[in-house]
Amino acid sequence: MRTSTRVLGTVVVWVISTLGVVAEDSDSEPVTYVLAGALLDVESGKTLRDQAIIIVGDRISEIGPSSDLTRPRHATLIDLSSLTVLPGLIDAHTHLNSNPNLHGYRALEVSAPRTAIYGVVGAEATLMAGFTSVRDVGAEHYADIALRDAIEAGEIIGPRMKVSGPPLGMTGGHCDSNLLPPRFEQRSEGVADGPWAVRAKVRENIKYGVDLIKFCATGGVLSKGTEVGAVQYTLEEMTALVDEAHAHGRKVAAHAHGTEGIKRAIRAGVDSVEHVSLIDKEGLRLARQAGTALVMDIYVDDYIIAQGELAGILPESLEKSRQVATNMRENLQRAHEAGANVVFGTDSGVYPHGNNAIQFSYMVRFGMSPLEAIRSSTLKAAALLDMDADIGSIAPGYFADLIAVDGNPLEDVTLLQDVRVVMKGGRVIKALELR
Ligand SMILES: [Zn+2]
Repeated sequence: MRTSTRVLGTVVVWVISTLGVVAEDSDSEPVTYVLAGALLDVESGKTLRDQAIIIVGDRISEIGPSSDLTRPRHATLIDLSSLTVLPGLIDAHTHLNSNPNLHGYRALEVSAPRTAIYGVVGAEATLMAGFTSVRDVGAEHYADIALRDAIEAGEIIGPRMKVSGPPLGMTGGHCDSNLLPPRFEQRSEGVADGPWAVRAKVRENIKYGVDLIKFCATGGVLSKGTEVGAVQYTLEEMTALVDEAHAHGRKVAAHAHGTEGIKRAIRAGVDSVEHVSLIDKEGLRLARQAGTALVMDIYVDDYIIAQGELAGILPESLEKSRQVATNMRENLQRAHEAGANVVFGTDSGVYPHGNNAIQFSYMVRFGMSPLEAIRSSTLKAAALLDMDADIGSIAPGYFADLIAVDGNPLEDVTLLQDVRVVMKGGRVIKALELR
């Protein structure tokens, strides 16, 4: 696992800050002129040739054929005429503060400050892989909030983040910690039982700055002593949780593998269901009717099964991973065919950060076209993050979050695993091929 992280790290040839080196216009905002040999318009699905993008400050100001759109005087030129430019990718299910080498009992030795530092490493690897925004769904010690704020303040580099803080869940459930015997009185920060305790915990998370609420509606793969099929939380608890979160303008993400838990969460009004392994026909119908986003991490189980034992994942978790993997993949295909809102999310942090794009080829293998898979990680993910006027598209007014690959990703979606250029908010973060 370490090796793959390091391999990704070594391909980064240079990182620059364009602040201070780029030209400025009369309002003293830096102006950048990007030439794109090909540009994938994710909305129309068309690949446009020889386009130019003018960026003022951190946002796109104009876009059009390079023959029509001349380079403004003093604009810094970024020549991507040999590459295909796409919007920065979005992963709607990450754990940037998690170290993928520390699962099971090993995770118990991680202090709160160390969690924060792992986040710095995870954020950089994720951005370098072309993921310019993430929705982070579950971190301890509110380390995700510190990470989001440090990135926003420009102190460290990383993707734009929407964060949940500690996930809510019942005593002994997937979102609790069940590793130690009673004398240690161990319990996760997000544990709450009963509708009012759940509401109080939602309020507490909001108090400390979360953007959304995450909770566990069923057992899970990586927790000790939980069953993936078993429902966690009554409908009353889920409804109270969703009501409280929505009342404060926060969306709700429900972790759910089991059939009944998925349906109960959708009926309670959640905005997204995570994993969705054992969804049935009725569940698909409910999700479609409600427009619930289904975030299905269909790559991670291969990683868990192949390498999880070395990372400390418990034997029972390896077994559960084998149980859900095939179901989840077949159900992604069914969900997509049924017209459900499938959104790209990977559970990074369980596997090494920066390998997020591996999942695209899995989505294509299970029935999505490359364009549909890319839309799930741009347009659809942006909508789930409530940022669809800012990210997920290359258009005037949007953040200048761009990536470039060498070739046509609609013909070979694995090109997204080798992103050559990453720009976030008009700033070049990674450039393997600039002329
Ligand atoms: Zn997760």
